[in-house]
Amino acid sequence: MSEQASAAPVVRFAPSPTGRIHIGNARTALFNWLHARRHGGQFILRYDDTDRARSTAEFADAIAADLAWLGIVPDRVVRQSDRFALYDAAAGRLRAAGRLYACYETEEELEYRRRRQLAQHRAPVYDRAALRLSADDRARLEGEGRKPYWRFLLDARTVTWRDGVRGPQHIDCASLSDPVLIRADGSYLYTLPSVIDDIDLGVTDIIRGEDHVTNTGVQIQLFELLGSGAPRFAHHNLLTLPSGEGLSKRLGHLSLAALREQGFEPAAVAALAVLIGTSHSVEPVSDVASLAGKVDLADISHSAAKFDPAELDALNARTLHAMPHEGVAARLAALGVGGGEAFWLAVRGNLTRLAEAREWWGVVTADGGYGRAEDAELLGIAREHLPAEPWDGETWPRWTRAVAAATGRKGRALYHPLRLALTGREQGPELKALLPLIGRVRVLARLDAALA
Ligand code: GLU
Repeated sequence: MSEQASAAPVVRFAPSPTGRIHIGNARTALFNWLHARRHGGQFILRYDDTDRARSTAEFADAIAADLAWLGIVPDRVVRQSDRFALYDAAAGRLRAAGRLYACYETEEELEYRRRRQLAQHRAPVYDRAALRLSADDRARLEGEGRKPYWRFLLDARTVTWRDGVRGPQHIDCASLSDPVLIRADGSYLYTLPSVIDDIDLGVTDIIRGEDHVTNTGVQIQLFELLGSGAPRFAHHNLLTLPSGEGLSKRLGHLSLAALREQGFEPAAVAALAVLIGTSHSVEPVSDVASLAGKVDLADISHSAAKFDPAELDALNARTLHAMPHEGVAARLAALGVGGGEAFWLAVRGNLTRLAEAREWWGVVTADGGYGRAEDAELLGIAREHLPAEPWDGETWPRWTRAVAAATGRKGRALYHPLRLALTGREQGPELKALLPLIGRVRVLARLDAALA
């Protein structure tokens, strides 16, 4: 193993704070965070907020809150808007090296040239006309009120890297247009600040969506010019809807905020976001961090990660059904639900959302009963055979055996009237577990109400 490969990784998640993040962004954040956890590394949250008109502090805070909901607390937070001096210095170095040049073409002029190239069956690559401008030409253009924007002069070579997900990759930079790094208003596009920050923050692994594969050729050239070589790259497949459609920020109901609002478990959202489109099956996990022991970048498949939002309902239910009490104790308390572990173990198998525990807690603690029952005969006999306390998990089978012996009833004819009288519901958690929680006083009150 090389020294770089064995050192603790430094990774970053780099959202633009121009909206809320969705489950697809969570996939990127989680792959980074899990990679850092797995290898004892560092996770940096980097706000790509060079677009000052669209970035807001509110969105930045909301992204941090959404990550915290998933259990991700960054080791370090940086904002690109605090770091312009670094980018200006790097741009200066590129200019001095003759690798950043001023351009003046308008979008219309470029479009016209592109169409002409296509008509001549040539690749629509920027022809570098601006490189041939003399100082006089530039002065004249600026005299006309044109402001330069700045392109990176690419080396016309093929850049290669070994991608942590996709294996050996190559990009022929001769087939790319020299990318614009700085707009005419002086603002930076994403490419240069991203590379400068990755160098400055010591990022060892860039883990991001495969929509960035094509940027990697340009970025590796910048790393090689401005730093001490490129970090490792891993480009994961993107989450898509069953139709193949990508998740855009407009898909509000798949934002983490909306999923949280709908009562989904962070562990279910994370398990789906991470496991889908990998060699693992989508299974519930007890907590988000446990995914670190399970998934590796090499397990990510090369095709799209198709996901049906309906899967989340099923996974959420399965997550709750297996959730240990300590995973939910604080939130149950916040919902006003008591009963400790015994209550949780009794009801968790009936939940699709945590908040439904409130309803069952209401069933356990209700004074009074659920109204008059039709099967008074059975309930009357049941009342006579109700065991004395203390009650435990054996009380229900003991009681119903006695009632069965006294009435000759069995199956639904025995259990259904009892369930209805004791819980007011057709279905629910096992009465064996609920009965000791309800307690003898309340059971008597419910039987009396049913017999009234
Ligand atoms: N701000 C970029 C994005 O959200 C970051 C891409 C990267 O990770 O390099 O797409």
